[in-house]
Amino acid sequence: MNANLKQSVAPESGTTVARTLIRGLRVITAGAANAIHADILISGNHIEAVIDRDKQPAQAAIAADYQIDGTGFLAIPGLINAHTHAAMGFFRGLGHGRTNMIETFLFPAEKALTPELLEPLSWSYLITSLRAGVTCVADHYYMIAGVGRALERLGMRGFIGETIADLGGAFPGWESWTRARETIDSWQFSDLVRPVIAPHAADTVSGKMLREAAQFAKQRHLTLHMHLSQTTGELHRVRQQDGMTPVQKAFTCEALWDRTLAVHMVSAREADYAELRASGATAVICPASQIIYEHLAPLENIAATGVPWATATDCAASNDGADLLNDCKWLGLLARDRRIADDTFDPRALLASVTTVPARALGMSGKLGTLAAGSLADIVFVRDDISMRPAFNDVRNLIYSAGSSGVEHVMINGKWRLWKRELCGASEQDLTNAFEGAVREIMRRTGIRGDL
Ligand SMILES: [Zn+2]
Repeated sequence: MNANLKQSVAPESGTTVARTLIRGLRVITAGAANAIHADILISGNHIEAVIDRDKQPAQAAIAADYQIDGTGFLAIPGLINAHTHAAMGFFRGLGHGRTNMIETFLFPAEKALTPELLEPLSWSYLITSLRAGVTCVADHYYMIAGVGRALERLGMRGFIGETIADLGGAFPGWESWTRARETIDSWQFSDLVRPVIAPHAADTVSGKMLREAAQFAKQRHLTLHMHLSQTTGELHRVRQQDGMTPVQKAFTCEALWDRTLAVHMVSAREADYAELRASGATAVICPASQIIYEHLAPLENIAATGVPWATATDCAASNDGADLLNDCKWLGLLARDRRIADDTFDPRALLASVTTVPARALGMSGKLGTLAAGSLADIVFVRDDISMRPAFNDVRNLIYSAGSSGVEHVMINGKWRLWKRELCGASEQDLTNAFEGAVREIMRRTGIRGDL
């Protein structure tokens, strides 16, 4: 038994593992309730094979540059957080007990942001995400290049969108759309960090801008990621401005298709959910955030319509942590509390909501969110210890018992990025110092006090 995944490559180097066989794992593959006993063969940045040892026990020796004993670990797909604002780490703990938080608190504070602050402000949320087994985020914010730099520094994957809005928000105007297109046309990042189109919301983006952004996204084969029906206030404003619901507006502007992440759906009715279902778009539910902002989305409408749904954490202003598995657990419990009787929110569906479902909306089906031949080597190694016993339902144990505290090592794109819960190739102390310096600066500029 080797509980440390001892290997002949120093994890600190972050070096690409040439061709590595990790033996003796238990592996959770897409859609299964229980793990299989398997070895994973990694070649460069992708998985070459997942070898089921119960089906192929007499497998001939596999030629690999390195062999690692993975006994004592459960391998799960890298988790995908379908909605974050990583740089809002500076709001941590300040969102509780506020009303109309978005308009009265967030927008005024965000006006004080300048580009050089975005990278350091992202460290806290991204590092805690990585330690929670999150390997990929769909991030939505202003001056997004700073978030992209932070992701590259940690070796994390991200689909990032420059927030656009012309009717409201921190920086309203058509310039936001010009900036977003320029950022994409002069893309400065590796394959790890890719662009999406990110309209802010149905009440802060005009129909003209939303329609143009959706057309652009389709032409470039990009995901469209937007807040939709986040609050009752948004519903009322869109009704006044456009004479329809936020979902109807997005539908009318042809902004809903199978590459759309429609985030929140709190003030959406069953008919809106049915419209989303027909469009192929994915609803993104952020349980902690929605409760702190206003209230949880109507989960019964998800059960009634069968719309695809992803779970996400949103941001530190409205969900102090970034522990995605914890949000999955709470979503399952809240569905139970609402007496939603079918299997809509069972453990397998909860795991799919942070793996295969968001992978599809990001255009990465078969590449992310699964452990199979041909998928990218984004793998989370969880301690397969007594918290995972008895092993009657491994996925339920993962979400309801072990949680993210069992995450020990994380590989992204074939490189070790977390080893024994420590960052590889970056000093957490240095990044913490930079984060705290940026927080002091933003607090100075805004006059926000931490004791409010
Ligand atoms: Zn959000």
